[in-house]
Amino acid sequence: MTDLTLSSRLGALPYDPAPESATLAHLRQSYGLFVNGEFTAPESHEQFASLNPATEEPLASVAMASPLDVDRAVVAARRAYDKVWSKTTGTERAKYLFRIARLIQERARELAVVETLDNGKPIRESRDVDVPLAAAHFFYYAGWADKLEHAGFGPNPRPVGVAGQIIPWNFPLLMAAWKLAPALAAGNTCVLKPAETTPLSALVLAEILQQADLPEGVVNIVTGDGTTGAALVDHPGVDKIAFTGSTDVGRLIQERAGSAKRLTLELGGKGANIVFEDAPIDEVVEGIIDGIFFNQGHVCCAGSRLLVQESVADEVLRRLLRRVDQLRVGDPLDKNTDVGAINSSAQLDRIRELTSWGEREGATRYTSSCALPDKGYWFAPTVFADVSQSHRIAREEIFGPVLSVLTFRTPEEAVAKANNSKYGLACGVWSEKGSRTLWVAQRLRAGVIWANTYNKFDPTSPFGGVRESGFGREGGRHGLEAYLDV
Ligand code: NAP
Ligand code: MG
Repeated sequence: MTDLTLSSRLGALPYDPAPESATLAHLRQSYGLFVNGEFTAPESHEQFASLNPATEEPLASVAMASPLDVDRAVVAARRAYDKVWSKTTGTERAKYLFRIARLIQERARELAVVETLDNGKPIRESRDVDVPLAAAHFFYYAGWADKLEHAGFGPNPRPVGVAGQIIPWNFPLLMAAWKLAPALAAGNTCVLKPAETTPLSALVLAEILQQADLPEGVVNIVTGDGTTGAALVDHPGVDKIAFTGSTDVGRLIQERAGSAKRLTLELGGKGANIVFEDAPIDEVVEGIIDGIFFNQGHVCCAGSRLLVQESVADEVLRRLLRRVDQLRVGDPLDKNTDVGAINSSAQLDRIRELTSWGEREGATRYTSSCALPDKGYWFAPTVFADVSQSHRIAREEIFGPVLSVLTFRTPEEAVAKANNSKYGLACGVWSEKGSRTLWVAQRLRAGVIWANTYNKFDPTSPFGGVRESGFGREGGRHGLEAYLDV
């Protein structure tokens, strides 16, 4: 399709380092489980280390919750529900949520550094996206807490009870906010299970809940691994499970939860970013970059399949590759960094495995010439051209900084190719022509569709998928429904 040799590489502009200070994180050496308003030792006294993926060094030691600990947390949540939270008025619940939102803002710089250290994402993103959006979710749902009877779910919508919430490592604090804010606004109590590789921002959030004087047991945070999550899913005292993570684990949870519990699943994706020939190419290139390289591509709704109209494909690819080569990859704490570290060695292995299939199946690989640090988990931004729909890199979620480029000739073909996926989370459409964008959007099978932009999130806007991307919506008025008995 195109000549991939770059005759005029611009190379990254030289920037002096501008690192944020790691000391702002104020991490403790060791964290217990947050149960009934206190940090407590796990019954086994077993701890594990959370690493900084950019250096492979341990950041803090974290408690491993066993099924007995999960039981303790569920019992605390049930007691708090029966005795306190179900009797707390919406107006009072709103005050707590506002307070939590304000405290997140007050401790924003610290939280951004903690998130970047623990996850590997660039400080620019944790500072400008993760933390402000987490606060925004609490502010937004604070506004709903005393207006539930006007939310369109009948005159007296009731909470579900105790919610078990399991979150992944790609947006640790933000996913905690997506889960906790609507649940608390609707009057539920919670047991939250962060991901094994990124528990630290949730534990700082636990300190914030203490600062906010949230009644004990209303939110409990149990750190651990997949077995901790499984114990939460299996616990008979949990009324509802909210899960964000991989499609495989989501399927397992659906089987185990059966009909005994309410369930919402936010799973994987293979988002199509569709570019028509009339779209402004320079803007499109920024949108493609944001769609796939934001958060190292560890984004369920990433625009990981670029569908570009054949008439402009060579030009788009030429400009895209030049831009990819300028991305600054490296120290996540540096404010100039565009692409940080891969979150874990396991995820790095998965990205390497799938990209090797890209070459094996005949796609043309372009890898950024950026230098990578010696220590830590890194993967250079990569684009595959000449991809066909049957390639694994066009079908499977890579969850890394890897873009697959396909072409189309007509809007019908664009829609058919975009929908040729087992997933259905998000898509982007780029065109100057509004009527074409609407025509395409109406035919795409995806929960979220962006027009002339990508990866835009807002607490007022519902988010979620169809097909193997899961079911249920988070955000907006729709996000309340999962936590109300309607
Ligand atoms: P994952 O392995 O499914 O893990 C997600 C969470 O589930 C983690 O807290 C994990 O704990 C826990 N878990 C693992 N096994 C479990 C089990 N048997 N029962 C209950 N809980 C269990 O996914 P991940 O690797 O962390 O995240 C990447 C995936 O999540 C990608 O596929 C991505 O598309 C998807 N994702 C989707 C969305 C969305 O909104 N749709 C958002 C973000 C990510 P441990 O970490 O301790 O193993
Ligand atoms: Mg970590």
